Amino acid sequence: MRDWGLRCCMLLLGCWSLAALAEPALLLVNDLTQAPDLSSAAPALATGPGRETVKAWTRAPHDHLQWVELRLAQDWHRASPPLLAVGGALAARVVVHAPPDYRAILKTRYENDLDPGFSRRATIYRLPSELRSDQPIYLAIGQPGQVAKVWASIDDIDSYRATDLGFVRANTFFISVQFSMLLVILCFWLILRDRVFLHFIAYDLFVVLYAMTDSGEFYSLPGAGWFGQFGFHLPQSVSALGAAFSIWFIIEFAELRSNAPRMARWLGFMRWPFFALALATWMSFLRPALWHSHVLNHLVVVATGLALASTWVAWRRGNRQAGFFLLAWVPLLSLLMLRVVQLIAALPQPAWLEYGFPASMAYAAIVIAVGLADRTLQARIERDRAAHMAQTDPLSGILNRRAITQRLEEAWDDASVKALSVLFLDLDHFKRINDNFGHGAGDACIVAVADAIRAEIGADDSLGRYGGEEFVIVLRDQDAAATARVAERIVERVASLAVHVGKRAITFTVSIGHALRDASVGSARELVENADRAQYQAKRNGRNRAVAFRTLQARQIESEHVNE
Ligand code: GH3
Ligand code: MG
Ligand code: MG
Repeated sequence: MRDWGLRCCMLLLGCWSLAALAEPALLLVNDLTQAPDLSSAAPALATGPGRETVKAWTRAPHDHLQWVELRLAQDWHRASPPLLAVGGALAARVVVHAPPDYRAILKTRYENDLDPGFSRRATIYRLPSELRSDQPIYLAIGQPGQVAKVWASIDDIDSYRATDLGFVRANTFFISVQFSMLLVILCFWLILRDRVFLHFIAYDLFVVLYAMTDSGEFYSLPGAGWFGQFGFHLPQSVSALGAAFSIWFIIEFAELRSNAPRMARWLGFMRWPFFALALATWMSFLRPALWHSHVLNHLVVVATGLALASTWVAWRRGNRQAGFFLLAWVPLLSLLMLRVVQLIAALPQPAWLEYGFPASMAYAAIVIAVGLADRTLQARIERDRAAHMAQTDPLSGILNRRAITQRLEEAWDDASVKALSVLFLDLDHFKRINDNFGHGAGDACIVAVADAIRAEIGADDSLGRYGGEEFVIVLRDQDAAATARVAERIVERVASLAVHVGKRAITFTVSIGHALRDASVGSARELVENADRAQYQAKRNGRNRAVAFRTLQARQIESEHVNE
């Protein structure tokens, strides 16, 4: 187990260090106020020197195209040729004009004919190997506007591949973890049919789908290229549905309706705007590109705060699942908040956020799957407790009438039980004890008798409280003589008991009737009746004794014997 943990850490560190390996070329970037003249093969450079950076972050307003000029700070001199990578949460069209011919190239990560040599983390444009610093590259971003920032960098193919491979490894690993949890819980659901598993499946499915459509890897799956035609609408719609289903899941999982009802009602209500947003993505007349992601991000912040507050309350009120949820979601939600703030403030996305997000989603899926297993365990514990309570006499802790009757019937039907006998025990003059010492003292005597009987019978034998101060004992594989010995021992043991109430010691006795199963006994019930009858005989014979039940036939034989 520890070995596996170590391997996972090394894999993650490997991905991180690979991601850190790449060193994109230094660029000079100018945001242009108007479109450049692209009619000549050597367009004029922007007048300003431009800002120096290795990763150019920019975005576009809603009402016009934003032109950006990029150029190398130095002529290209690396061994492997340069390529331009454009990435980020791309909702806008990005048209690239690059040397040598400056023709317009429009690519999105959703297309089918992208270069299969690279992941879809960014769109890739190959540049000439002899790219010079006086050959600008132009990006036209928008319309519709680009709310989140878009990045562009120029790197050599070899080091970009290394970075890209690191991304693919990390992304595949995290998505596989989530997908595995999904399958595990699906199997749980197939067997256990607990509705909360279905809620988890819906929520995790959309989270995985969002992670895959957002990174673009979804479209490389066999047959999934067809969805590319929906562009950024699909990840947007999926993320809104993911939010709605996660709210649903939280409410069910942490049982918020009973633990924090008011907050649960508010949270439940918040599902509907998310469903509405998921639909609105597809209604082009609403011009969703202008407002959709903004509204979605703000709603996510509100819903997240409410979800955290209500699960916190549920956890404080003793709900274990709410604790699991908090444990699982605090890292995820912290990163989600940061991501949303980054999107709202249009800040660049740092690498730790890009990788940390899927990592925390995978972590959350694991913790929640453990939480679901724990929920099943709790249900089992509760069921066992309920079953135990249904079988136990609360005063003495021994079996109650129903349970001892059931044990006797099981033993009756069990072919491996060679001999079966029943002892029926009744306390003598118990009313007097109650009258003289009080009901509490009577109870203490009942408990003391139960303990005394337990000490005299074997592990395979059963003891139950049949009525007020009546007990039934079921002995397995004991012949008549052995049964009589056990009964005698109990009589003696009880007679020597002293139950202390205050300064007074109560002594008392019991009468026992016992009966052995033989061919004349038709049922378990009849066997108990026989033992009860013998117990009455014990009372009549003077109490504080054990009497064996004799069949009519046995009594006749005995009396003939006496007459002779
Ligand atoms: P006998 O020797 O003929 O059995 O006399 P008895 O006084 O024991 O008579 P019986 O068996 O009919 O008495 C039952 C009494 O047991 C009646 C009731 O007051 C008492 N009793 C029944 N259940 C409880 C109980 O749970 N706690 C206490 N303290 N007394 C109980
Ligand atoms: Mg009685
Ligand atoms: Mg009695």
